[in-house]
Amino acid sequence: MREEAPVTIDVFTLFPEMLVPAVGQSILGRACRAGLLSVRFIDIREYATDRYRQVDDAPYGGGPGMVMKAEPIFRAVEAAQEAEGGYDAVVLFSPRGRRFEQASAMRFSRLSRIALICGRYEGIDERVYRHLATEIVSIGDYVLTGGEPAALILVDAVARLIPGVLGKDESAESESFSESLVEYPHYTRPAEFRGWGVPEVLLGGNHQEVESWRRAESLRETLRLRPDLFRSHALSPLDQKLLNLTPPRRRRRKSSPTPPPESEPD
Ligand code: SAM
Repeated sequence: MREEAPVTIDVFTLFPEMLVPAVGQSILGRACRAGLLSVRFIDIREYATDRYRQVDDAPYGGGPGMVMKAEPIFRAVEAAQEAEGGYDAVVLFSPRGRRFEQASAMRFSRLSRIALICGRYEGIDERVYRHLATEIVSIGDYVLTGGEPAALILVDAVARLIPGVLGKDESAESESFSESLVEYPHYTRPAEFRGWGVPEVLLGGNHQEVESWRRAESLRETLRLRPDLFRSHALSPLDQKLLNLTPPRRRRRKSSPTPPPESEPD
């Protein structure tokens, strides 16, 4: 157990049962058991005030669907604040929010107490956005049925950046986006699979050459798959050299691996 208090994330949701199993597993479960992370699920419905425990209502002005009421959400968050203290961030999930990225995960991982509010139906009463949330977060330009998958993504991305959560063999330092670049490709045994080999440099045992190859691959993969990201990367003289001097990766050799597709077919 660590001396410091764990990073505490309270998830306010109408469907806690969707998320409970996910945080008990693998690295998240291990982080919780080690006292590095504490994730609690608070059922917004418990804070409904009427006898039917109503948490949504028809939108003012008409239109389709239902809107989550402000009052149960305010009551749930305020009860947690009174019991445990204020939050460093109260995040509300919405497709209209600011895009969640690795830099956001890094920023959240340095906070002590975070509240995540998951919307459902047509969304949440605007007064929650304006008077309770400190930020609005989207996980991408598409619409989910609810904020729970978004909450899980945030918890997962943040957890692995908390010092001590990843073992030394699972360092987050050289991963994608740590430097406006995507990661280099990985290979493991066997050295030949269905006729597709492993780049020779990885088998040679020369640490320096492996590092150069990985850096060059990282640059080339970013250029190929994420030109938008590549444009924001400041190329060092070494990067320039690696890009110019290292032979292109996709020279056809019998044993060379087929490059991955740029995107999955729909
Ligand atoms: N009517 C809303 C709109 O057009 O923006 C979509 C509501 S969506 C069906 C229900 C809830 O799912 C949202 O309130 C939000 O909490 C969550 N959600 C949906 N897409 C999301 C995204 N891309 N990022 C984060 N949360 C999302």
